[in-house]
Amino acid sequence: MIETYFIQFAYIAAAAAFILSLKWLSHPTTARRGVKVGELGMALAIAGTLVHHEIVSYQWILVGFVLGSIIGIPLAVFMPMTHVPQRTALSHAFGALAAALVGTAEYYLHAEDLGSFTMAALSLEVILGYLTFTGSLMAFGKLQDLLPGRPIVYKGQNFTNLFLLAVAVAIGVYLVVNPGRSELFPVLAVLSLVFGVLLIIPIGGADMPTVISLLNSYAGLSAAAMGFVLDNKLLIVAGALDGSSGFILSVIMCRAMNRSFTNVLFGGFGQVQAGVGQAADRSVRSASPEEAAAILEAAGSVIIVPGYGMAVAQAQHKVRELYDALSRRGIDVKFAIHPVAGRMPGHMNVLLAEADIPYDRLVEMEEINPEFPRTDVALVIGANDVTNPAARHDTASPIYGMPILDVDRARTVMVIKRGMSPGFAGIENELYYMDKTMMLFGDAKSFVGNLVKELSASPARV
Ligand code: NAP
Repeated sequence: MIETYFIQFAYIAAAAAFILSLKWLSHPTTARRGVKVGELGMALAIAGTLVHHEIVSYQWILVGFVLGSIIGIPLAVFMPMTHVPQRTALSHAFGALAAALVGTAEYYLHAEDLGSFTMAALSLEVILGYLTFTGSLMAFGKLQDLLPGRPIVYKGQNFTNLFLLAVAVAIGVYLVVNPGRSELFPVLAVLSLVFGVLLIIPIGGADMPTVISLLNSYAGLSAAAMGFVLDNKLLIVAGALDGSSGFILSVIMCRAMNRSFTNVLFGGFGQVQAGVGQAADRSVRSASPEEAAAILEAAGSVIIVPGYGMAVAQAQHKVRELYDALSRRGIDVKFAIHPVAGRMPGHMNVLLAEADIPYDRLVEMEEINPEFPRTDVALVIGANDVTNPAARHDTASPIYGMPILDVDRARTVMVIKRGMSPGFAGIENELYYMDKTMMLFGDAKSFVGNLVKELSASPARV
């Protein structure tokens, strides 16, 4: 009896912790608290589950726990920050596989006594679980460069994919009516596994973070369906939270890129497009750290625009030093945050927070854009696509319509990057060829470090 009370208490507390965690995770000032309370919720959920009277032996649970930790801990410790999207894809793959396997085991244990509702939930759990498993593995492969990142498309592809899914769903519905037809169950599983692969093949590497967020949503829904199968209310709540938050995040990412879901899933974005945004032998103006530091010193206002390159170079701490050096001179320094700068939502916020840059200096895109025309210097550090003016006017550009940071409207533009390589979208950036733009070639960390050295060598104005 006491166990039942403990389980109920643990589950209710865990559900509350998950909800608070999501709420707190949505703002940088409370994000750490959000992570802690989420961990507490998960610990309570596991503790509640482990005292369940249906558990007859802890032996295999312990084996699973040790194995999972052996894989999970190094994955979390050694995976660099820039690889978080692929790490997340792997977590979804394993989570979804677990849900699908539980569904499969439940089916074979109780096939004859499954009611229609439970069988419907089980079919959904298994379809979503297996397709998310292979889909997430494919997403991992593309992001980790184990598979070609470009979309693989062929004629009739969408029809084939939808047909496959329709057959899987039809088998699921048939099993609801005739749960005893166990020979159909492996077909359902295999079709779902194949559909997961086919769903991801036509999607380019550039869209993988959005797709991962969508797969997160599927894994959550699969877990919620598992909650109905096992009659576990916490799984229903946690799965629904996971499913809806993943979906909302995908919507936010699509909006920030001015893309629709259909375009992300079926648009083949990222195919090699000859001639789009190619610079025809144009030259750029480059400058040394000394020249750049002299211009920065003379500025009254500077907007720093961080992007993926800052994350790759892990330059955030040097950027903090630069912020200090400029602020000490009485220069107004702000950071412009684009919603999809970097490779995951909130990427720049996390890195800048890690370097203790005050949150009130981080300004979102809509708010900062009107400030560019009255800003002396826009200093772009490893950002590319999110500053490309082609998004505003070039209807042929793959990023046409994507909201961008209006860096080109500042009085002077400086861009720190290693060379002339394109960004994620694989296209030229006309910003680099403008008269007011100076290219500062070098690794973001070392170039910003050199700027700080130059500024420290000259006496401050105030
Ligand atoms: P970006 O367009 O990918 O460009 C990053 C630039 O950083 C590259 O041009 C690269 O040029 C430079 N770079 C790389 N390593 C560097 C280093 N060590 N030091 C200095 N520079 C370095 O980045 P972004 O402007 O942040 O745009 C993000 C892109 O990702 C957008 O296209 C967005 O749609 C896409 N995306 C983001 C998300 C998200 O959630 N954040 C999700 C989906 C898609 P060099 O090689 O010449 O140095």
